[in-house]
Amino acid sequence: MSQPPAAFLGLGAIGAPMAARLARGGPLTVWNRTAERAERFAREHGARRAATPREAAAGAEVVVTCLPTSREVEALLDGPEGLLAGLARGTLLLDCTSGDPATSRRIAARLAERGVSFADAPVSGGTNGAEAGTLTIMVGADESTFARARPILALLGSRIAHLGPVGAGHAVKAVNNALLAVNILAVGEGLAALVKAGVPARAALDVVNLSSGRSFVTETLVPERVLTGAWPRTFRLALLEKDVEIARDLLRETGVDGPVLGLTGELFRQARSALGESADHLEAIRLIESRAGTAIRG
Ligand code: NDP
Repeated sequence: MSQPPAAFLGLGAIGAPMAARLARGGPLTVWNRTAERAERFAREHGARRAATPREAAAGAEVVVTCLPTSREVEALLDGPEGLLAGLARGTLLLDCTSGDPATSRRIAARLAERGVSFADAPVSGGTNGAEAGTLTIMVGADESTFARARPILALLGSRIAHLGPVGAGHAVKAVNNALLAVNILAVGEGLAALVKAGVPARAALDVVNLSSGRSFVTETLVPERVLTGAWPRTFRLALLEKDVEIARDLLRETGVDGPVLGLTGELFRQARSALGESADHLEAIRLIESRAGTAIRG
């Protein structure tokens, strides 16, 4: 199947490599708030740059958004240069933002009035997975929208799960990332204590990774980023804090007590104010290190 004309809005850390894959498959128009980023992307990937969201949407059959939160996606809809002014009836909007279910349901309802279909399609797999096209994609949509979205999403990911109606993708993504956040803190605290007790971090991790405490954090993130001291910035801590808050809202809405996620949210809020908006999510472990007066290296 040839790729229909597409537009991509939001060329951030994960949006840019996702858009690059779409640019290889067919005609792509890009828009980014900071225009230089879109200009550079268009030059490097043979895409067309739109000056406004309206211009990006005009002529596209599929529009993909990847912004920090659902608030920014919703804000993009309005105004004479907004998305709604450019979206034609029959267009499909795929929101790959890790957003929140309630805002997405509102966006979907507004789009439906104009004959535009919507799916929330947040992703997991990091910037490496985005480059390789191996993301896991969590979709909330009705059946017919999912069927239309699937071939486009298959250009971006290798596991595409339809989880329920609009909002279901965001809900699962938020819980997934809340689990990541809990794990980062627990691994950081445990390893800091082991290092202070005289056990080399590498030796401790090797055993954990053959045992029941292993996780993506212990198997991949800490060995590649913390033990090496590399600390690359690929996923902002502020965005992970936002994901924990979405998960906490879900617990509140469903009447589930959440003391673990409550404390995790509070600790990530503290980390965000201590480390700033551009810190990477794993730098939460740096705070644990500095408070413990030790370094987890190996
Ligand atoms: P970045 O912070 O790197 O990029 C954010 C993008 O949103 C940029 O293009 C930025 O434009 C744009 N933007 C920010 N504010 C606005 C606004 N008010 N109006 C319009 N555009 C705006 O984020 P990521 O690319 O890392 O993340 C995007 C989404 O994907 C988030 O929801 C995140 O949680 C999720 N995600 C990220 C992963 C990662 O590994 N990075 C992994 C999985 C999900 P500008 O260039 O002008 O700043």
